[in-house]
Amino acid sequence: MELWYTEKQTPALGFSCKVKETLYRAQTDYQEIAVLDTFQFGRMLVLDGMVQTTVADEFIYHEMIVHIPLRTHPQPRSVLVIGGGDGGAVREISKYPQVERITLAEIDLQVVEAAKRFLPEISSALEDFRLEIKIVDGIEYIRSLQAAYDIIIVDSTEPVGPAVGLFASSFYEAVYRALKPEGIIVAQTESPFLNAALIRTVFRRLKAIFPQTSLYLAPVPTYPSGLWSFSLGSKCYDPLQPQGKLLPRDTRYYTPQVHRSAFSLPRFVQELLEE
Ligand code: SAM
Repeated sequence: MELWYTEKQTPALGFSCKVKETLYRAQTDYQEIAVLDTFQFGRMLVLDGMVQTTVADEFIYHEMIVHIPLRTHPQPRSVLVIGGGDGGAVREISKYPQVERITLAEIDLQVVEAAKRFLPEISSALEDFRLEIKIVDGIEYIRSLQAAYDIIIVDSTEPVGPAVGLFASSFYEAVYRALKPEGIIVAQTESPFLNAALIRTVFRRLKAIFPQTSLYLAPVPTYPSGLWSFSLGSKCYDPLQPQGKLLPRDTRYYTPQVHRSAFSLPRFVQELLEE
């Protein structure tokens, strides 16, 4: 008998994977967690029926959400990740020796525990000595901060449930206050094919707060439509002029050329950013 997992990406579109085994399933206070072992993408983390990450293609998403902001800043010392309980973003941040303090603000302890148990390739840096894991709502946590971080990375779930507020103007205002004077925010902002309205809204909200805003793209095969967007707000540095001198080690997707080209937007995406 064959077992298949299907994510209903839209009411009219499904993404299916042949499954070897369901390794873990739990209902937490926030979401349903599943870890599947798939033939095509290896182990896969699924939250509320939506693919969050897979061992085969996670490197693209995690390298792009981390290295673009960290190489844009000349000397990132303190980095906050909101969400990101799988640990992939932390693993990429841990490649920077100049980073002294990493905070992971994840609402659901069971995501962190499932990642440590079933996704060791992704979660390996959750033991980094510079990391503090806070099991908190990122929206609450950010409100208490003033000029505390060089970089804030919003590695959130889709804007449903506890993640809805991570896409609100009031959240971005709090992020602005929580960033140091040369700080940078990057947020994952879904697919330009399927979530155009969301990208437009987030971009407008960031633009009302940050002096520099830009959008960049990367292909992520297991995410809806395969084309993913990241929205960046910067108080000072232009991401097209990266200030970082050192290149992160062991990247498989990120290069300085990819950094530049990710900001070259197709016309239909460019149009989403126009007033
Ligand atoms: N890379 C992924 C994607 O784009 O699909 C995101 C992965 S990561 C596992 C997302 C995490 O955000 C989840 O573990 C979820 O628990 C967390 N999260 C959602 N809302 C949150 C909030 N308000 N504060 C902190 N963490 C939150």
